[in-house]
Amino acid sequence: MRYAQSVADLVGDTPLVQLTRVTDGIAATVLAKVEYFNPGGSAKDRIARRIIDAAERDGLLGPGGTIVEPTSGNTGVGLALVAVQRGYRMVFVVPDKFAGAKVDVLKAYGAEVVVTETSVPPEDPRSYYSVADRLVREIPGAFKPNQFANSNGPLSHYETTGPEIWRDTDGRVTHFVAGIGTGGTITGTGRFLHEVSNSAVRVVGADPEGSIYSGGPLHGYLVEGVGEDFWPESYDPSVPDEIHRIPDAESFEMTRRLAREEGLLVGGSSGMAVVAALRTARGLPADAVVVVLLPDHGRGYLNRFYDDDWMRDHGFDVGPGPAASVTPTE
Ligand code: PMP
Repeated sequence: MRYAQSVADLVGDTPLVQLTRVTDGIAATVLAKVEYFNPGGSAKDRIARRIIDAAERDGLLGPGGTIVEPTSGNTGVGLALVAVQRGYRMVFVVPDKFAGAKVDVLKAYGAEVVVTETSVPPEDPRSYYSVADRLVREIPGAFKPNQFANSNGPLSHYETTGPEIWRDTDGRVTHFVAGIGTGGTITGTGRFLHEVSNSAVRVVGADPEGSIYSGGPLHGYLVEGVGEDFWPESYDPSVPDEIHRIPDAESFEMTRRLAREEGLLVGGSSGMAVVAALRTARGLPADAVVVVLLPDHGRGYLNRFYDDDWMRDHGFDVGPGPAASVTPTE
């Protein structure tokens, strides 16, 4: 019999698939590492498993313990699927602007969700961060993974994502491209690939226009899961060799193309990373191998950039889509 002992054992070992339709005019091989094959649907399952394993090992989390984390998205799902198996209580603190489908997913895993006000500054006792910190103090046996400062995040990518890419390309990868959120993915994977290739692999970051990592003025943006307005400890800025600044319009256009042309229904940060990967690949010789990491599934974004009305309402061009509207006959 061939089976996993628990769903947490299914984290990682995600496949590489070649992009063949959006790569017109490019000689290099462009391979997508599709992280939605993780059991929680995103790359965050990797950090969740390692953070929980390390907390148990270090005695920070034990029987009867509670995991408390401010997260509304993929990290919560990853933590939940590991925590459920091991009998931990989960409390996720979510800003009210994210209430909705994502919160329902966390509840479906049996998590308790505390909704906080978005429109207060971080130091306000009602804020997302303050409420999470208070719960950690008040709940006995509480553990806060703190993905923005926990070194196990980047380490999980150093130990799994990087080696998988090196193994699956037979060491022929020449460029690695990833979006930067907490920075864990690019820091851990990029560090591994630099070390194993003697820095021959070029590590390329993708950052939404308006975020801190690529410099320039800070302003809002709509792509989710990437970009920041502060420098988290989980990110080592010495790892990327270059960083591309990608406007939302390009990220969303490419994400929609990945669904319609490659059959990859992925999140907006995946489209953003592919824009940077194609900029990188253009002009490279045929023996170059560009690996781009696609962090999550697109099903959570159906009523956002996959929706033509949402796109138009936010000023984005939807372009000619197949059968975007079919006129009914009477
Ligand atoms: N895309 C999505 C959808 C994410 O949830 C995240 C994690 N915040 C990222 C990209 C960026 O990954 P990292 O935090 O490792 O930089």
